[in-house]
Amino acid sequence: MQDNLVGKTYFVKTFGCQMNLHDSERVSGLLESQGCIEVATPQEADIVVYMTCCVRENADTRLYGQVSAMVSAPPPPSGKRVIAIGGCIAQRDGERIRTHIPNANVVFGTSALSSVPDLLRQAFAADDKQILVDTQEQGRGFSTELPTHREQAFHAWVPIMTGCNNFCTYCIVPHVRGREKSRTFESIVAECKSLVGDGTREITLLGQNVNSYGRDLYGEPRFADLLRAVGQTGIERLRFTSSNPKDLTQDVIDAMAQTPCVMPHLHLAVQSGSTRILKAMNRSYTRDQYLQLAHDLKSAMPGLALTTDIIVGFPGEQEEDFEDTLSLVRKVGFSAAYTFIYSKRPGTPAAKIVDNTPHEVIQQRFDRLADLVAELAHNANQKDVGSVSEVLVEGTSKRSGTVMVGHSKKNQTVHFEVPQGHEASELVGKIVDVSVTEARTWYLSGEVLGDPR
Ligand code: SF4
Repeated sequence: MQDNLVGKTYFVKTFGCQMNLHDSERVSGLLESQGCIEVATPQEADIVVYMTCCVRENADTRLYGQVSAMVSAPPPPSGKRVIAIGGCIAQRDGERIRTHIPNANVVFGTSALSSVPDLLRQAFAADDKQILVDTQEQGRGFSTELPTHREQAFHAWVPIMTGCNNFCTYCIVPHVRGREKSRTFESIVAECKSLVGDGTREITLLGQNVNSYGRDLYGEPRFADLLRAVGQTGIERLRFTSSNPKDLTQDVIDAMAQTPCVMPHLHLAVQSGSTRILKAMNRSYTRDQYLQLAHDLKSAMPGLALTTDIIVGFPGEQEEDFEDTLSLVRKVGFSAAYTFIYSKRPGTPAAKIVDNTPHEVIQQRFDRLADLVAELAHNANQKDVGSVSEVLVEGTSKRSGTVMVGHSKKNQTVHFEVPQGHEASELVGKIVDVSVTEARTWYLSGEVLGDPR
């Protein structure tokens, strides 16, 4: 087939989690390796890729809205636009995706990134009535073997495994990302070493449940050992996500506390403060076990910032269950929390549970929780006023070109003015010491001390 991808323009839109962000970087890397050129908007692009998420209902509706808007967009300079749908909705729906997205030309599943160039070549050669689908999971390598186009040169997402074996009753992920499959220990450490060699300053190890890393590998290397080994590669800042409390063991806590480049922030989803609801969610830990874990983490790493995810309105949730959630949140003192109203996902066990709790009641609970989380987040930030925060600079603030934004070691967002004698552009990817002068609920602000490094 004549190579009809060279010179084509492309645009990638990512919905959902960090794993999707990583996969989008691989798809961009693949297209660039085929001679395609990135453009800033879908309207300008010959190839538009949507990396989709189906963790909540509104993710579906947002996607359908955005893709159908492309139907009325004028054709690109090349005369033909190809729409490719990837990620979890693609894996879940496959060919059926045309029901909601009649203008989709290509559908590629969560394990089928490597087939994207060929599918696109076929799509440019085919008529629009045809849809090309690849959602095959078996025998596919890791997307980490594919070329990449990183959004940020100073930060890298490094997947260590794919899939999840936990089957929380509300979650669609195991159905669209498959069973847990770990990359080899050596390939991860080698990738991290090469990233450090390329000047990467921060690495985030990725997986749906990183704490169960290696259980499917010969000799069962443990996540704690991997953390220590990556900590020896010379990386300055090391993070990891997502952690499941049921698998976060003492050896991981020790490895975090004894590996200096591991950042003092952990995202540990609790989902509910009620043991009864945790059981119904199949989360495999109790309220008290989570509280004990939070206590052990903070004892081992004083000053650790703990953040979490919480679902409100899980079917069957009573007022006393919700009160348990509020009291656990207060007890742990989270620095921040992502709070969600339960979203029924077809195909999950929880979707079969009948619940007649009025939406207003669930909304009121959600608002009460959001107020508490905001109060705790502000208190946590307030404690840092007067301290010096080491910030990795990511770019300029959306509100003003003279205000820079970055993240502290505790993963707080930090704003500061471009210091005299420096250009905003030269600060991106640098580390600066910021003297914190003000705390807001969701960010800190301050002044730069000394020179960027
Ligand atoms: S641990 Fe539970 S919530 Fe997280 S991806 Fe696995 S099944 Fe979903």
